[in-house]
Amino acid sequence: GYNIIIFFIITHLMSILGKLKPWNPSIPYEILSLNISSKLSTNSHAIKESSKDFGKIIQEILPAAVLYPSCVNDIIDLIQFSYDLSVPFHVAAKGHGHSIRGQAMAKNGVIVEMSSLNNNNNDNCGVRVSWDSDLGFYADVGGEQLWIDVLRSTLEYGLAPVSWTDYLYLTVGGTLSNAGISGQTFRYGPQISNVHEMDVITGKGELMTCSKDMNSELFFGVLGGLGQFGIITRARIVLDKAPTRVKWVRMLYDDFSKFTKDQEHLISIHNNGLDYVEGSLMMEQSSLNNWRSSFYSPSNQTKIASLLSKNKIMYCLEIVKYYDDQNANTIDKKLKKLVKGLKYVGGFMFKKDVSFVEFLNRVRSGELELQSKGMWDVPHPWLNLFVPKSSIMHFNAAVFVDIILRQNKTTGPILVYPTSRKRWDDRMSAMIPEEETFYCVGLLHSSSGYNECKILDNQNEEILNYCDKVGLNIKQYLPHYKTKEDWIKHFGKKWNIFQQRKDLFDPKMILSPGQRIFN
Ligand code: FAD
Repeated sequence: GYNIIIFFIITHLMSILGKLKPWNPSIPYEILSLNISSKLSTNSHAIKESSKDFGKIIQEILPAAVLYPSCVNDIIDLIQFSYDLSVPFHVAAKGHGHSIRGQAMAKNGVIVEMSSLNNNNNDNCGVRVSWDSDLGFYADVGGEQLWIDVLRSTLEYGLAPVSWTDYLYLTVGGTLSNAGISGQTFRYGPQISNVHEMDVITGKGELMTCSKDMNSELFFGVLGGLGQFGIITRARIVLDKAPTRVKWVRMLYDDFSKFTKDQEHLISIHNNGLDYVEGSLMMEQSSLNNWRSSFYSPSNQTKIASLLSKNKIMYCLEIVKYYDDQNANTIDKKLKKLVKGLKYVGGFMFKKDVSFVEFLNRVRSGELELQSKGMWDVPHPWLNLFVPKSSIMHFNAAVFVDIILRQNKTTGPILVYPTSRKRWDDRMSAMIPEEETFYCVGLLHSSSGYNECKILDNQNEEILNYCDKVGLNIKQYLPHYKTKEDWIKHFGKKWNIFQQRKDLFDPKMILSPGQRIFN
């Protein structure tokens, strides 16, 4: 009682002084009688910061408060409190806020800053490496952990996860809510296929352990579940022996058909194949060394630029083979065998030999460089798609050549690489095309400001409309839709189960409202 009165007086005085936002009526004052009251903030700065994301497109979706949990129980208390109300408020876990369109925001609700679990509280999970005879090596990691920290901790044991994203400053909870894809996905599956078990706090405020065999509806629902069924507080991740070095190769193509045939061939090699296969577009206007990684020496850049002035659009196939001291003698021979017969433009193969960590963390140096120039914290109208193999030639002609090259508005890397359905479990929430092989396409635009952002977003809209009109059967990755009909279409035959799982695990629709599926 006293707590509430004192808090009320202080907040009232501070809001008069302009230090705090007035108390938001969506959250009852009684929340201040909970143990978590000292970890809740309604400070305007905290509110503003927690409602920012990497996309910088959605603005001013402000929560009523921000929770800085010091342990898992704090999140349970918060959700249970909301669940027991006749009009519950929304709760969104915010990992590293690297969403594009407000997916981790919660208007008038509470944002849970997951990073504050990363303190030295011994009850929290952190990163713990173990072994057992059934699973082999694995790591129990907190949902708030950044993948870069998972990498650093597991490497202390000479181990590492097998499936990655291109960029490592993303949280485990954030990528498992989508899929977590990169050039390793064809071989090991997405990150969601490399999880043995999770602890999840549901929308009823219940902490549940789940796996394929235990609470499996929750397990499969949460993987790729866009934060709709629970907050992941621990995930048990598959580990393998870590290599120490990698051979990293890029080859340039002037023909999309040859490029994709070679990519498809490379991902089909099962024994002693590659560890990573990606690819990207190169256009005269795009810089050769972009933030995704600086790769080419100045003299090679000149050589490539002259080729690009003849071919307005080129394709870059990027591959990696891991190795370590034991097979250092044979690695070049193995690699030579793998690239034999590939149809890149003669003389346009470029190689690097770097450490495993340098390769996995390749995006970081580009990020720091852009940050120093004030070019990282800008609007990012990204569009990520999965394109079925049977549509990719059509997609190249209509989208890459006809829309993107012709309109000449592109301002960032464009990724295109194939992967396989084999390692995706259809019981998971993540949506992919029906075909066995499909392409991951990422239009990773940066814009100088809101006007340019709008122009690029119109281009994204044009691409989506075109694909829809001619029936290319694409799926959005990191999906964003404005209407429920679009979501129903996105999930297709999985919509019913998605909805049933929502009724089971978050019946009051409390969690991750920023995805705008049920809210
Ligand atoms: P947030 O943006 O904080 O949250 C994303 C969603 O997940 C929200 O709905 C949030 O409420 C929910 N959420 C967050 N934490 C939890 C949790 N613990 N439990 C349940 N739900 C939770 N993706 C790839 O697959 N491959 C890539 O190579 C890749 N590269 C990227 C590079 C950059 C520079 C950026 C900005 C993004 C990239 N992404 C990539 C996309 C990225 O994986 C997703 O945007 C991911 O959601 C970001 O993680 P986050 O921790 O920042 O999540």
